[in-house]
Amino acid sequence: MRLRNIPGARDAIAASPWVMQKPEDQCGSWKEFFGNDRPLHLEIGTGKGRFIMELAQRHPEINYIGIEKYSSVLLRCLEKQEELQLQNLIFIRGDAELLNTYFAEGEIDRIYLNFSDPWPKERHARRRLPSSEYLRRYDRILKPEGVIEFKTDNRGLFDFAVDEVAQSVFEIRQITYDLHNDPVMNEGNIMTEYEEKFSKKGNKIYKYILARKNDVIEVKNDRETIE
Ligand code: SAM
Repeated sequence: MRLRNIPGARDAIAASPWVMQKPEDQCGSWKEFFGNDRPLHLEIGTGKGRFIMELAQRHPEINYIGIEKYSSVLLRCLEKQEELQLQNLIFIRGDAELLNTYFAEGEIDRIYLNFSDPWPKERHARRRLPSSEYLRRYDRILKPEGVIEFKTDNRGLFDFAVDEVAQSVFEIRQITYDLHNDPVMNEGNIMTEYEEKFSKKGNKIYKYILARKNDVIEVKNDRETIE
């Protein structure tokens, strides 16, 4: 993502009621924060927030948390959230590396990774959000029946991500190499800002859905699982 430093972004974020200012203090008690027992879904690298805000509007029965590393980007989410005032959505200005400090073991039901940065240099492979190292972090915070959804237009990153699954506790339950022409996986798809931009250029969108190997749940698209 091209980053433009927006003066005052940090201050605006520090003052926003839509940002959890000290997410570490909430570790293990997100349900108390939302004031209900609803499932908790997380988007990591939320960008300008279109995806998670649309999801939160469609699914008031689910609580959503969006994590974004950069203040200038997160500011765009907050502008929209000021208008929408979605009570089932909160943001963290933070780094996915610190996930284990934000969330307790088994606290999360679903993780979305959308158009994660590819970090093409080999020496940066560990920073890729679908790497096996990150899958270990997700394993810790996800419930036993937890699910991970990842989509991208970057074939190199997607091939890497598929290979990494083999070194994890997860397995691929659904996969497509052309999401927008896959009637099953595309059902209920919400386009992210990057997805719209790159699919307009003619790029194919790749997506997988992971669940734990030993889990008997059937993963259904559009954010549902059937026990
Ligand atoms: N998900 C959005 C979309 O599909 O339009 C944005 C995609 S953009 C390529 C990747 C986003 O992930 C950027 O906003 C970046 O700042 C954020 N990001 C990258 N690494 C991150 C990390 N370790 N923790 C939190 N956010 C991260």
